Amino acid sequence: MVTITCDTCGKEKSHNEKNLKETWIMGSDLQVENKSGVQRSIRFMDHWDDRRVLELAAIHVCSAKCKDDYIRGRRAAA
Ligand SMILES: [Zn+2]
Repeated sequence: MVTITCDTCGKEKSHNEKNLKETWIMGSDLQVENKSGVQRSIRFMDHWDDRRVLELAAIHVCSAKCKDDYIRGRRAAA
């Protein structure tokens, strides 16, 4: 089984869903090259989907706060 960690705070996602109180959110962080440079496209999904966890460029965050921090951090670094 794969261990998922929060991309913002590094917390590990429990495999026991019954004990989960936090709301994990997944999304994708894609970089697309065009004439004006590299454009970043961050998208978050409405619900968690275990089948898509290992997709390329997938983001996993443990809460809405970490999701906001992730977006802010990426924007600040860009
Ligand atoms: Zn987190």
